[in-house]
Amino acid sequence: MNVYTSSYLKSILISKGIESKVEDADYIIVNTCAVREKVKEKIYSYLGKVNKIKNKDAKLIIIGCLSEVEKDEINKKFKPYLLGLFDKESELENIGKLIEGEIKKTKLNQVSRYLPVIFGCDHFCSYCIVPFARGREKSKTLDTVIKEAEEIYNEGAKEIILLGQNVNDYGKDLKISDGFLILLKEISKIPFFRISFLTSHPKNFKLQWIPELKNIPNLLQLFHLPLQSGSNKVLQLMRRGYTKEIYYEIVEKIREEFPDASITTDILVGFPGEDEEDFLETVDLIKKIEFDRAFMFIYSKRPFTKGESFKNEVPHDEKLKRINHLIKIQDEITLKKYGKYIGKEVEVLIENIKDKKGIGKEKGGRVVIVEEVDKDDFGKIIKAKIDRVNIRELFGKKLNYMN
Ligand code: SAM
Ligand code: SF4
Repeated sequence: MNVYTSSYLKSILISKGIESKVEDADYIIVNTCAVREKVKEKIYSYLGKVNKIKNKDAKLIIIGCLSEVEKDEINKKFKPYLLGLFDKESELENIGKLIEGEIKKTKLNQVSRYLPVIFGCDHFCSYCIVPFARGREKSKTLDTVIKEAEEIYNEGAKEIILLGQNVNDYGKDLKISDGFLILLKEISKIPFFRISFLTSHPKNFKLQWIPELKNIPNLLQLFHLPLQSGSNKVLQLMRRGYTKEIYYEIVEKIREEFPDASITTDILVGFPGEDEEDFLETVDLIKKIEFDRAFMFIYSKRPFTKGESFKNEVPHDEKLKRINHLIKIQDEITLKKYGKYIGKEVEVLIENIKDKKGIGKEKGGRVVIVEEVDKDDFGKIIKAKIDRVNIRELFGKKLNYMN
C-alpha cells in the first residue's frame, strides 16, 4: 500500500520535474509505516535527520500509518506542515495541488502496477495496529476499479496487482456478495498479461472460489495467505477467525486446482501465550504445508491493540531462537521446492532489466532472473530455462519469445 501511495504521489508530482535532494527541497514528503515498533524507531530517527539537514523554510509532510497513530508525538517532535494517513488517491491529489497548484498525471513506465481496491481493515487481530491507523474497510465501486484498471492498462502496464489489507473482503461493505470473485472476473476482461491480488485473509477465502479462479486465464497463480501460527490456541488469542484445519483445507484446494501455484505466508513468532508446544505446532504445519516462501516476523507489542495488555510474554531471546529455527526450516523447504525447477522451462514477464539481466515472475509468481535479455524484452513474456536457484529467486537463460 505504501509503495502504491509513494508511486502515485510521484506520478502527480514529477510532471514539473520537482524531485530533488532533501537539503534543497521546499517540500519533503515522508511516507510512514507503524506495523512494528522497530520500523517506528527507524522512521523517528530518519525524521530527526531530515529536520536537521532540511532548509529551514522547507515544509515537512508526513503521511502513512504512523502519522495517524502517533499524531501528537510527531506534531510535538517534528512540527510537520501537514500530517495524516492520506491513503486515497483524491487525498494524495490534494497534496499535489498544495505543492504544484494544479496537478498533471505523468505516465508511469512500469510493467507491473498496483491498484488498491479496498482500504482499511475490519478484523482487529489482537496484535495489529492497522485497523487503528487505516480505519474500517471501504471498497472502491466496481466501476471505479474498472476505470482505473483500464487507465493503468492504457498507460502500458502488463500486470495489475489488486491491493487490500484483506483484498478478498472486496465488496463486503458495498453488500456485493462474492465481490472479490466478481471483481477478478471483471478485471480479467482487460487484456493484461497477468492479474494478481494481495493480501488474502484465510478467514474469508471461500473454498468455492478456488475452482472458479481457473476460469481466469491471465491470473497469476500466487496465493499469499498469512497463517501467523500453526497453533489453534494462538490463532484464537490472535483473533484470526480460522483454525489450522480450515487453513490447511484452503491450501489443499488451491494445490488441487493449481498444481503449479506458489503459496506464500506470513508467520508471527512469539505472540504472548505462545509456548514451546504451540511453536512446535507451527513448525509441524510449516513442514506439512511446504510453503514456497514465508515471511517471518517477531511479535512486537503495539499500542491500541488487545494484545498490548496480554500476559505471558515470550522473552526476546526465545523469540529470536524460534524465528531463526523457523527461517532455517523454511529456507530448506524453499530450496527444495525451487530446486525442482532446475532444468525446467518457465514463462517470465520481464518487469525490469539491469545489466542485461531481466527480472520478472513466472506464472506462479516466483521471481526469475533471466540472463542475456535484450532491451526489447521489457514488458514481454519470454521463455527461460532454469539452471540454478536460491531462497528468493530462480535463475535461468532466455530461450525464445512468447508474444
Ligand atoms: N491483512 C493481512 C492478514 O491479516 O492476513 C496482513 C497484513 S499485516 C499489516 C502484514 C503482516 O505484518 C502480518 O501478516 C503480520 O505477520 C505482521 N504483523 C502485524 N502486526 C505485527 C506485530 N505487532 N508485530 C510483528 N508483526 C506484525
Ligand atoms: Fe492486521 Fe489482522 Fe487486519 Fe491483517 S486482518 S491488517 S493482520 S488486523
